[in-house]
Amino acid sequence: MTENSENDWKAQTALVHGGVTRSHFGETSEAIYLTQGFVYDSAEAAEARFKGEEPGFVYSRYANPTVDMFERRMCALEGAEEARAMSSGMAAVTAALLCSLRAGDHVVAGRALFGSCRWVVETLMPRYGIETTLVDGAKLENWKAAVRPNTKLFFLESPTNPTLEVADIAGVAALANEVGGRLVVDNVFATPLLQKPLELGAHVVVYSATKHIDGQGRCLGGVVLSDREWIDEQLQDFFRHTGPSLSPFNAWTLLKGLETLPLRVRQQTESAGRIADLLADHPKVARVIYPGREDHPQADIIARQMKGGSTLICAELKGGKKGAFAFENALKIFQISNNLGDAKSLITHPATTTHKNLSDEARAELGIGDGTLRLSLGLEDGDDLLADIERALDVI
Ligand SMILES: *Cc1c(COP(=O)(O)O)cnc(C)c1O
Repeated sequence: MTENSENDWKAQTALVHGGVTRSHFGETSEAIYLTQGFVYDSAEAAEARFKGEEPGFVYSRYANPTVDMFERRMCALEGAEEARAMSSGMAAVTAALLCSLRAGDHVVAGRALFGSCRWVVETLMPRYGIETTLVDGAKLENWKAAVRPNTKLFFLESPTNPTLEVADIAGVAALANEVGGRLVVDNVFATPLLQKPLELGAHVVVYSATKHIDGQGRCLGGVVLSDREWIDEQLQDFFRHTGPSLSPFNAWTLLKGLETLPLRVRQQTESAGRIADLLADHPKVARVIYPGREDHPQADIIARQMKGGSTLICAELKGGKKGAFAFENALKIFQISNNLGDAKSLITHPATTTHKNLSDEARAELGIGDGTLRLSLGLEDGDDLLADIERALDVI
């Protein structure tokens, strides 16, 4: 096996070559090691491997060569010391949150969370004696006010789903340091290219690799990245013994997805910027929230912590649910789907799909109205997408 040296590479190079480990066949494309276990040359070798005295793989629930390549490529991209890949974004979020908590601890989280993340914080954690407080994460003072003597963990998503609200990552990270807690950031909406939570001071970053990292709607996957000490001492045992491992086949798909991530995110962000401007100026649209526009409510924080706009747009149509549904149904290229970060442009009506389980009050708090739509830009020609949106707005 030969290894590449990946120091000092820019993202686009690291995403093509980072983490590659070649077998003795010298394959160009990374190999898929579809195996559960590994064999040892001798009983002594097995003993040494289990003792950790000899490097190598033991069982694919713990580590696998293809999964390892994906983890190392993610580390190179994120600038993290260590990573653990998981079977889905939710497996990654749950492991990152629960691995270091125990009954009696307190967690503060931004209330605008992906639905399942909110369920883990609001419903699951209290069952095990973990206290949780959800705050309006857009204002730093809300995070400060929620701190208790037993606060151990802060959790946020930024930009949020679906209203693309932004939290001050450096500010919350500083607060976490002040009180001896840790900040976990769900960076799915920003992608690893447009925002670097670890550089901003966050302690742990999590992804649903199902979204932009796969980017072609094929596999579920997730990944947790942090410093080596935290992964070894907090995450590793939880990961090893609860078994949220990523399949080698899916790891391979995600590894190949990473190769084209910068090209895709650049193209999607460019189309999103054009469509956000079109929607913002349209008489049938009440409001557009887009991190790349100067009229975003938190444009100042975005300028400090993000490197670009977003591949997603949140738009509020004037006609309420009726107008939103008519618009969705009139689109020809955009597909109605709750996924995001895909090669195909997608649109979803959060109030009746991704956020239908929230109370009317909770939805109102998050700014999700009956006319709210979330658009995820794909890889189609930008002119075609613009024409699709314009035509659909005309007919409603
Ligand atoms: C999709 C998503 C998740 C969950 O990821 P899965 O791969 O679907 O389990 C978590 N957080 C955010 C922000 C997401 O968009």
